[in-house]
Amino acid sequence: MTKHELVSPKHKVIALVAHDNMKDELLEWVEHHRDQLALHTLVGTGTTGKLVSDQTGLSVERLRSGPLGGDQQIGARIAEGDVDVLLFFWDPLEPQPHDPDIKALLRIAVVWNIPVACNRATADFIMSSPLITDEYVRHVPSHER
Ligand code: PGA
Repeated sequence: MTKHELVSPKHKVIALVAHDNMKDELLEWVEHHRDQLALHTLVGTGTTGKLVSDQTGLSVERLRSGPLGGDQQIGARIAEGDVDVLLFFWDPLEPQPHDPDIKALLRIAVVWNIPVACNRATADFIMSSPLITDEYVRHVPSHER
């Protein structure tokens, strides 16, 4: 498959999704990285986005709740090239009604070669990378395929 390049700008779009059992952990993490996150544009699934904006004051564009299609909306934005980083705290211990959507979101994030954090340690590593505030040239699939 032909590869193209896409620039993730210095000012990134960061998508936030946390399953119910993981929301406290994501909120605590966001609080800890609040100032850094304020430099970027945030988008999230419905409940996650509301909790983050209510509890941290950060502005978050809210999509549908995950089980109602929010994960798929984020996936669509990734495919459009409009999301640079995905922070997806999915629950490893409980099945979810929208398990197929979760698999699809993780798959499309890999296809479009964006950094994905599924736990706090990885999210810490991403936020401490100099690339988070620098341009990054991503190799992405050819649009023609
Ligand atoms: P929520 O969706 O933020 O609306 O809870 C997250 C999810 O379950 O995918």
